Amino acid sequence: MSRRQERESARTEVTEVAPDILRLELPIRIPGLGHVNCYALIDSEGAAIVDPGLPGPGAWRTLQDRMARAGISAKHVHTVIVTHSHPDHFGGAARFHKESGAKVIAHHSFYFGPGRPGSDQPEVSVDDLPGKPKDDGEADEDLNQPPKLVHSWRGATPWGSSRTALDIGRRLLWRTLMFMGRVPWVPEITHPIGHGDELKLAGRDFFAVHTPGHTADHLCLHDPETGTFLAGDHVLPTITPHISGLSESRDPLASFFYSLDRVAEISHVGQVLPAHGHPFTDLAERAEAIKRHHYERLDRIKEIAREIGPGTVPEFSSKLFPPRSWGLMAEAETYAHLEHLLLAGEAERRRRSDGMLVYETG
Ligand SMILES: [Zn+2]
Ligand SMILES: [Zn+2]
Repeated sequence: MSRRQERESARTEVTEVAPDILRLELPIRIPGLGHVNCYALIDSEGAAIVDPGLPGPGAWRTLQDRMARAGISAKHVHTVIVTHSHPDHFGGAARFHKESGAKVIAHHSFYFGPGRPGSDQPEVSVDDLPGKPKDDGEADEDLNQPPKLVHSWRGATPWGSSRTALDIGRRLLWRTLMFMGRVPWVPEITHPIGHGDELKLAGRDFFAVHTPGHTADHLCLHDPETGTFLAGDHVLPTITPHISGLSESRDPLASFFYSLDRVAEISHVGQVLPAHGHPFTDLAERAEAIKRHHYERLDRIKEIAREIGPGTVPEFSSKLFPPRSWGLMAEAETYAHLEHLLLAGEAERRRRSDGMLVYETG
């Protein structure tokens, strides 16, 4: 398999990829990704920064180095825009706000952390697992309802597997930081925006395009004048963005399909600037190819169901993904696809007495 461009290491050189828009590549080490693109949009007031990389002093130093090459310093930054709530995209936002008082802009649903406060998805422990046999041994889960563990970081996944030890460690660290009131790297969004809102960036008008799917709060930015489209992680040049069933959305895959159609319909798109990989031009075509990939995956799930009969999420996942990809992320994506089939009336689901969801397709 050819090496995917999203895996390439970050280069130090800064390139102008659209009028007054600079691409700054920052190193990250996430499976399948070797860099994240931060974009600096230059105007007479200074610069707006889109997706300022990972949190932490090392990432900040690298970003300052890239900016220095472009003749920008942190105090020139008047605005930070975060395309979505992943740490490799919002990491430097809080620091910019502190250094220069920069506005921090994201979709109004931006949220990162375990269980949104006030969310109707309560945190429950494994003992509260829906479907866990009660005294009468009967599962009581209403299967027309989503499994209750959505977005809980504690205990089991909604589909019944336990989370990995690493994950538990991360959750404990998170809880400790939350308890201490110190999660300084999650930015406060000073200027929440919504679909269709207009932003003056690089001296021209950009429009916010809400594109839920990869995350529920994902935003793209479009400038019809020069045809520039900042795609975040919504549409990437050669890989398909991760779609997680661990989402607040009931059917993140359906949201993603909707958002792919939404951007494919936009006219006046020339240069697409993704958060990973190189600029490209065929937004509608690429959106269509990503959709096709997921339809093929849905077909493959139905094929697997014919091979194995009723199966759990880990069972489907291990057939759908190669062993190197096995784990929570693969299971979360498989779960999103199975739930999509369920909601489309193409699969059935029941909760086994050990807490595992079992899916069957017709
Ligand atoms: Zn992302
Ligand atoms: Zn990303």
